[in-house]
Amino acid sequence: MEKEYLLANMTWQEVEKRLKECKIALVPIGSTEQHGPALPLSTDHYIATQFTHRAAEMIWDEQKVVVTPTITFGFSPHHMEFKGTITLSELTLSSMIADICHSLAQHGFEKIVLVNGHGGNETAISNALHDMQGNIDAKVYHANWYNMVGEKIREIVTPPLYHACDMETSVAWYLGQRVLEDKRVDEPGKSLVPGFISPDMSATGPRASVSYNFKEITNSGVVGYSTQATKEKGKQIADKVLENLVRFIREITKI
Ligand SMILES: [Zn+2]
Repeated sequence: MEKEYLLANMTWQEVEKRLKECKIALVPIGSTEQHGPALPLSTDHYIATQFTHRAAEMIWDEQKVVVTPTITFGFSPHHMEFKGTITLSELTLSSMIADICHSLAQHGFEKIVLVNGHGGNETAISNALHDMQGNIDAKVYHANWYNMVGEKIREIVTPPLYHACDMETSVAWYLGQRVLEDKRVDEPGKSLVPGFISPDMSATGPRASVSYNFKEITNSGVVGYSTQATKEKGKQIADKVLENLVRFIREITKI
């Protein structure tokens, strides 16, 4: 059978045949939301798709996998004041994830990996995982690409790490996303409670949270230093993400 990991390109007979040698399905999840003046709205689902497809490609010779179509909409109400953003409700997103996983499990996929590219989706994904616990014949895993870097990311990029920042712009650029190079801006984002609530995923120290709208912390939609982004940094980060993502899939196959 020819090399094909994209479920959408396969016939049902090919899926049936593939299931004899492969029980792992990967599901990329992103969003359609503003990413400042230099990156398109597709950025989160573009990155999640790229990482998932590339991981499937890398692991193919040792482990066959199937990749479903990407969930291109996510939970983004906090970006709705920026034009073009489309959000699902958290309930819709978690229901969609659970429905997709139940469908895959019904066909015989025993391990499902949700590869997420958008921080706002994390609660909906956790809720879906909790809801499926005990009533699905598959193990469902969740990995955010930005947690797969596994390096001292602050040594590679300029913080804060948040949105359309140095890290995300570099990665998107390297992976082939459209980047409007001369529209890149630097906006570190406003701290809502100094010392406790700051827009930076890499921040250490005491942390608290509050509901907020992105307009409260940024005018451009960017939180970070996107002018610092380079394709070279993107490659450095993407190589690490892929190495760890492939290692994660490899570990899963052994369980
Ligand atoms: Zn993003």
